[in-house]
Formats: sequence, C-alpha cells, structure tokens
Amino acid sequence: MIKLHDLYFKPFISEKEIDTAVQTMVDGIAADLGDEVPVFIGILNGSFMLVSDFVKKYPKPCEVTFIKLASYEGVKSTEDIQRLIGLTQDLTGRTVVILEDIIDSGNTLEEVHRIFKNENVKQLIIATLFYKPEAYNKDFKLHYVGMEIPNKFIVGYGLDYNGLGRDLPDVYQLKTTQHMTNIVLFGPPGAGKGTQA
Ligand code: 5GP
Ligand code: MG
Ligand code: MG
Repeated sequence: MIKLHDLYFKPFISEKEIDTAVQTMVDGIAADLGDEVPVFIGILNGSFMLVSDFVKKYPKPCEVTFIKLASYEGVKSTEDIQRLIGLTQDLTGRTVVILEDIIDSGNTLEEVHRIFKNENVKQLIIATLFYKPEAYNKDFKLHYVGMEIPNKFIVGYGLDYNGLGRDLPDVYQLKTTQHMTNIVLFGPPGAGKGTQA
C-alpha cells in the first residue's frame, strides 16, 4: 500500500499486465493500419508514459506529438476542459491516433473531437489504455481499449493524484473506507483546482 498526500492506494495492475495490454494495442493498431504512417497524439500529462512505451513497441514508421488538456480536480472529473497546449502542425489527410491513458466520463474525449472537427484528418482513431465503462457517458466510439476497469480512482503509470503518483510503474487503486466515501464523491478537502489530465 502507498500513501499520496492524504489518501491510501493499494496495488491494482502490475507493470507486467500493463506491458501486455500495451503490446496488444500496438499489435492491433499496427495490423489494422497497414502501410499508413500514423500520427500518434498523446494527451498530456497522463499519457506520457503510455506514449513512450507504445511508440517503442510500434513496429513501423510513425510520428508522435502531444496536446495538453486539463479536466480533473483531485479525484473527480469536471466538464470544464482547458486547452493548455493545442495542435501545432497541419494534419490534413493524416491518420491520427489519439493515445489516452484513461477514459472516464468522456468529457476530455469530447473536447478532442471538438479540436479535430475542422482539421480535415483522414481518420481519427481513439485508443485508450484504461476505460471505465460505468463512468463513460458519451457516444464516441473507442476503437482500441487496453483494459476495462471499475469506476474507481487509480494512480500510477502517468496518472496522478494532485500531482503525485505519475512516476509509478504499476497502477494503484484508491483504498476506500466508510469514512472516505464522502471524500471520493466530493473531492478531498483543499484539493487544488486545474489538475492536469
Ligand atoms: P474524462 O474527461 O474522461 O472524465 O477523464 C479524462 C482524464 O481525467 C484522463 O485522461 C485522466 O487524466 C483523468 N482521469 C480519469 N480517471 C482517472 C483516474 O481514475 N485516476 C486519475 N489519476 N486520473 C483520471
Ligand atoms: Mg489523460
Ligand atoms: Mg490528473
């Protein structure tokens, strides 16, 4: 068990299980794209570790870039998505593959679709390592999902709790107690605003 700020987290998904899920995503995408040279776009901050591991495994030429969006406050998703770093290159006619660490409510994904609406890309493919089906409330298709997980807050492998935990190679799940139910629902006391996605 680990403690980050005021909360406790228990081991949930090992580095090895993550590696297998990433490899499966790579294999699927590489097979489906054939000779197409994709532009992989990571959503910072959470996706940095996934993108690094993913493109090292990707067996064919590809481009890599990032955009930076922020949605989370503490342990809770918000609908107010901020664009902190936008697109900096012309993607007309390109096959774009979004690499997300996790899809929760889908609010961030909705913003991604807004960003790409007028970019005239050839295709917009969504790939996410983790997916919380119970929390997702949008209709956008998720083309590749590494792992479905329950609707509980996790940290590690790029995912943070108020800045901490991104560096952990394994994924941990928030350890809830009766007393902490309120904290999970309403956010911890004093949780900072604008935590980066
Ligand atoms: P959504 O907009 O789909 O609700 O959430 C998207 C972003 O919120 C993710 O890219 C991720 O950065 C953050 N997020 C969603 N669920 C979790 C979680 O369980 N743990 C952490 N640390 N961040 C999450
Ligand atoms: Mg993210
Ligand atoms: Mg975050």
